[in-house]
Amino acid sequence: MKISVDGLIVYFPYDYIYPEQYAYMCELKKSLDAKGHCLLEMPSGTGKTTTLLSLVVAYMLEHPHDVRKLVYCSRTVPEIEKVMEELKKLLLYYEKQDGQYPSLTGLVLSSRKNLCIHPQISTEREGKIVDGKCHGLTASYVRERYNYDDTTPICQYYEGFSLDGKENTIPHGVYSLDDLKEYGRARSWCPYFLSRFAINYANIVVYSYHYLLDPKIADVVSKELARESVIIFDEAHNIDNVCIDSMSVKIHKRTIEKATANITLLEKTVAEMREDDHKRLQEEYQRLVDGLRDASVARDTDHFISFLKRFVEYIKTRLRVQHVVQESPVGFLKDVQSKVCIERKPLRFCAERLASLLRTLEISDMTDFSPIILITHLATLVSTYTKGFTIIVEPFDDKTPTVSNPILHFSCLDSSIAIKPVFDRFQTVVITSGTLSPLDMYPKILNFHPVVMSSFTMTLARPCLLPMIVSKGNDQVAISSKYETREDNAVIRNYGQLLVEVKYRLHNLL
Ligand code: SF4
Repeated sequence: MKISVDGLIVYFPYDYIYPEQYAYMCELKKSLDAKGHCLLEMPSGTGKTTTLLSLVVAYMLEHPHDVRKLVYCSRTVPEIEKVMEELKKLLLYYEKQDGQYPSLTGLVLSSRKNLCIHPQISTEREGKIVDGKCHGLTASYVRERYNYDDTTPICQYYEGFSLDGKENTIPHGVYSLDDLKEYGRARSWCPYFLSRFAINYANIVVYSYHYLLDPKIADVVSKELARESVIIFDEAHNIDNVCIDSMSVKIHKRTIEKATANITLLEKTVAEMREDDHKRLQEEYQRLVDGLRDASVARDTDHFISFLKRFVEYIKTRLRVQHVVQESPVGFLKDVQSKVCIERKPLRFCAERLASLLRTLEISDMTDFSPIILITHLATLVSTYTKGFTIIVEPFDDKTPTVSNPILHFSCLDSSIAIKPVFDRFQTVVITSGTLSPLDMYPKILNFHPVVMSSFTMTLARPCLLPMIVSKGNDQVAISSKYETREDNAVIRNYGQLLVEVKYRLHNLL
């Protein structure tokens, strides 16, 4: 059906629209008109996704200069796939009504693990391993080496995409994970890199929260998105936790041991490279000095490695605690300076410096270096933010309170820190979910000023909900939705039996 929402013609791909869906569209439109943020609550299962997509797509087609892109953030892969299904339905409805497909491209971006089509690497189950192995085939020095040594393994799909994938845009349409893989296979293009490139020109992008909220990922993936974008955070009732997690770091004793091994390996690789190719290390240092506005923080390789050693040693000593210790980032920085003579400024550039060194050393599998990378992230975060964070060192893990297993938590206490760049950068950010009440809490914890804040409850024409508590099946076996009993045949049988009986009775009632 086509409906007019405050003068805007909206295509809605269903025969019936609930009054709440219409009211939701009206509020959303107000926020788009005002180019401001909004907070909207409507129960799950009431067609929120299709309502959002219908309104924003109609707005985008009507005002292409005011809204250039829709970025839909969801939490899990099944939720993302559901959005793609609804979007497909909507654009096909446009085609049916107008006789031509709208000039829009919508696509999903997900991790390499979900998009890789390499015959061996795609069979790996762990995302980190897929990332590491992919990096080992696609890093610039690997590809350079292939030029003079064709036994060097590379990825044909990456090569295919680099050769001609950037020349053309993909045809208008909606591309789910499977569609991207199919499209990539047909052309020998890597779907992951295709999708990362295509999000820059696609009109509708669907991906996970982390691509915008985690600064480590957002800086790489989402930095080109236009200001005239509408950002939707769906199922956002936990958004504050996602923000906090993306800025927090946990260091275990094991992390320190592995980071120490990483440093030893770094030293060895540097020594080998120095024998073979001293110039390259010198060039890396020079590049760094040129790239940094403040050259005093750049250190040559040996200096940097000894700096890392001192910092890791320092954290090791901090983990030797008998009781819980809490400290502010300022106190921590002061202590670092007095104990191991490390200043705040070089700590800040630590993550960047390590990434540059790992590239120069041609380390293909970054997953091996994740412990030291984590420590450099801690260094960068603790020296960047002095407010909104705390450091807690615990001698025991919660699960084993009698066994010594110290952990250093660098915890973010203020969820607004991670989301602030998103509110500042984009014209409209929509925070929506089935459960956001009390609504006025979110603007406070996320520190933003919504232009629209509304809650819609579904009104039902007749009382059609009848809650029922069932604790036992008809064979007297307890039924529960507890995780441990999900595979229990008796429980499954009783649930099935219950459904069949309810259906039988309802059928009789009709
Ligand atoms: S480039 Fe693409 S296809 Fe090749 S290994 Fe990496 S993710 Fe897989």
